Order: sequence, then C-alpha cells, then structure tokens
Amino acid sequence: MNILTINNLTFSFPKSRNPVIEEFSFSMNEGEIVGILGESGSGKSTLLRLISGLEIPRGGTIEIAGREVAGEKTFVQPENRGVGMVFQDYALFPHMSVRDNLLFGLSRLPRKERNPRVREMLELIQMTEFEKRYPHQLSGGQQQRIALARALAPKPELLLMDEPFSNLDASLKGAIRDELRTILKKANMTCIMVSHDKDDVQAICDRSLVFGKKDDPLQQTPGNDRELTFLK
Ligand code: ADP
Ligand code: MG
Repeated sequence: MNILTINNLTFSFPKSRNPVIEEFSFSMNEGEIVGILGESGSGKSTLLRLISGLEIPRGGTIEIAGREVAGEKTFVQPENRGVGMVFQDYALFPHMSVRDNLLFGLSRLPRKERNPRVREMLELIQMTEFEKRYPHQLSGGQQQRIALARALAPKPELLLMDEPFSNLDASLKGAIRDELRTILKKANMTCIMVSHDKDDVQAICDRSLVFGKKDDPLQQTPGNDRELTFLK
C-alpha cells in the first residue's frame, strides 16, 4: 500500500520568483525508509514542511495513506495528518520528564492506553529506566532516541526526520545509525530522513533521492549500494 503519494507538487515562498519545489512527484510504500540528500538550501526541509502541513503548496497534491491532505480544494491541518516529526534539535520539552514528553502527543488515545504506550515506546528504544529523567539529564544520543519515541508514540502513518544526526558527534552517530534502522524496521514505519550526509542515508535508508544541481559533489561519490535517483 502507498503511504505517501505526491503529484506535481510546486511551492515558492511569497515574493520569491523561483520555486523551491517544482513539479515534484514521488511515492512511498508502507515500511519504506527513504533518504533525501542535498546541499543546504535545496529545499529538503521545505518538502518535509509541505508534507506535514506547515506550508501550503502552490500546486499539486499530497496523499497520506490514501487520503488527500493537500490539493486544490483540500488542506488538512498538521495535527490531523498522521505525520510524526523528529527535528534537528529534538525539541523535547525541557521542563517535562521523559515520561511527560512521551505522554504529550497521546491526548487522543483513551486514557488507559497512554501509560502502556509510553512503556512500550521506552522498551522499543531500550530506555525504560530513564522515565523520570529530564532532558538535560540525558546525553545527546539519548535525547535523540526520546525524540524518536515521542514521534512514534501516537502511531503516525508516516515519520519525517529532518537532519536527525546533526547534533551528534561522530562516534555516537555510528552506534545510533544501526539502532535507528532496527527500531524503524521493527515498527514497520514508513519514514523519510533528510540529511546532508551520504553515509547516514546509506546506513539507514532503503533508497534515496538527491535534491540539488547536477554538479553537486554528493552525486559524484561512488559506492552506494542502494539506489540513488537524481532529481534535477
Ligand atoms: P534545505 O533544508 O535543503 O537546506 P530549505 O528547504 O530550508 O533548504 O530552503 C530552501 C530554500 O528556501 C532556500 O533557498 C531558503 O533560503 C529558502 N527559504 C527557506 N525558508 C524560507 C522562508 N521562510 N522565506 C523565504 N525563503 C525561505
Ligand atoms: Mg533543512
């Protein structure tokens, strides 16, 4: 089943003549992990913002799990799209414990299902003993895992991650990469990961797209054993 279908998506910022996204079409099957690579300013974050409903397209359509969420006459609000997001800086609530951070997105779940879901998520990321800690008492890698658990907790149809590793040092990144792929596959999560690091994408994703120009050095690095589709 297609979880994400994008048709002829076009977007430009107000007062800007050049579109950031132009006639972009793309689809994803359930359980796929797709990487989006590209130089800074190539429109990666904008694409994620369009999918999650934080920007309104100028043209084209976006469907999530068979339902149109953006189109000529449709616009579904971000909170009703079934999309989870992990941001570059994790965006955990600093004044809330790990447990409360995870509970935050679960208001739509019946009350008695919330605590079990929090526990299930902490087990998935192997951090059950960290429930009562606050974000400042966690390492960067642990905060990253909590941000992931929080995004997965409400059972989104689609998970979007924008540069999820940019705040982690190199040694931590290596360990987390494999773990992240394992967690996503275990949850059969459909996921888009934006990155400027080809190694991250190669380690985690099933396939990848490259945003940017033909002379982008990212497109000339040999040795990717997964498919690379070049957009422009
Ligand atoms: P990336 O995530 O690939 O680095 P972005 O999607 O953030 O790129 O940005 C794409 C382009 O849109 C860039 O040229 C950027 O300067 C521009 N841009 C981003 N946000 C805004 C905004 N709020 N208003 C005007 N232009 C923007
Ligand atoms: Mg960006």
